[in-house]
Amino acid sequence: MKYPKETKTYCPKCKKHTKHTSKVESTSKARGKTTKGSRKHERILKGYGGKRKGNPTIKKQGKRQRVLLTCTECKKKHQRVIGSRTKKKLEVVAKEK
Ligand SMILES: [Zn+2]
Repeated sequence: MKYPKETKTYCPKCKKHTKHTSKVESTSKARGKTTKGSRKHERILKGYGGKRKGNPTIKKQGKRQRVLLTCTECKKKHQRVIGSRTKKKLEVVAKEK
């Protein structure tokens, strides 16, 4: 998937359409086993008593590609999701004329 490097879209801070520069936003990862919730979950799984909210059996096909838009006037950043779940990677390209 291709996305233009510069676009004119709505800026929530300026409350009008301004020029934005786009950048590929890295997908977020799981925090691991150090968070309070996951530590509690492991404590519950210990010993007898079955399981509680185990791992999901269904695997999602692909991830939603996001782009980070930066307003050139106020430097405010905001995200935008491009399309739905795909395995294709998003790439930012300069607009051809
Ligand atoms: Zn702005």
